Amino acid sequence: MNRTLIVLALVLGACSPSRAQTSYPAMTATNYIPQNPSSVETPTTGPETFPQAADPFAKLGEPLCTGLTPENAEGPYYKAGSPERNSLLGEGLVGDRMILIGYVLDSDCTPIPKAWLDFWQADSNGNYDNSGFILRGHQYTDEQGRYLLETVLPGLYASRPIQHIHVKVQAPGGGILTTQLYFPDQAVQGLTVQVESMEKYQLVIFNFVLDQ
Ligand code: FE
Repeated sequence: MNRTLIVLALVLGACSPSRAQTSYPAMTATNYIPQNPSSVETPTTGPETFPQAADPFAKLGEPLCTGLTPENAEGPYYKAGSPERNSLLGEGLVGDRMILIGYVLDSDCTPIPKAWLDFWQADSNGNYDNSGFILRGHQYTDEQGRYLLETVLPGLYASRPIQHIHVKVQAPGGGILTTQLYFPDQAVQGLTVQVESMEKYQLVIFNFVLDQ
């Protein structure tokens, strides 16, 4: 194969639709780079000052299982085709920054690598982006079954005044769990995150336990 053919093969390989799943890099301390859009109205942070930059999973600990994660309503605002990303922060976004971390586990509490998670949420004013993909994104768990989402705390909206984040979770080859995560002030059985206030963001932890 001459050089031109090799280059062409590499380019075609990079454009393959299956690339997102087959070449997904594990989230590690070395390749996770927190975003820092200046428009987020939280104290300025960046990769050089981000408190957990050395290990974003430092507070996660070992997996704990307290029963299967319940299903919860999908709601009217899901959109398929969200971009693959760990950070939903972007230009023009305001709100209180939060980092959501956790495991995706099977019913034996074993971490599931390469599980798909698709998040969508309201912005800090309670609005969904139904024309684009602001505050929407999917990702896959790393080899230790962990995920990490950098975003802002969701706002309340008039028709549903309870703070929540929507998510779909699927183990490779498994069924899709559609559910929502809630916060301690308005707790929902089996779906309430743990929140720890860090210096410059809210650290939010939730482990999904799938019926696998
Ligand atoms: Fe909602």
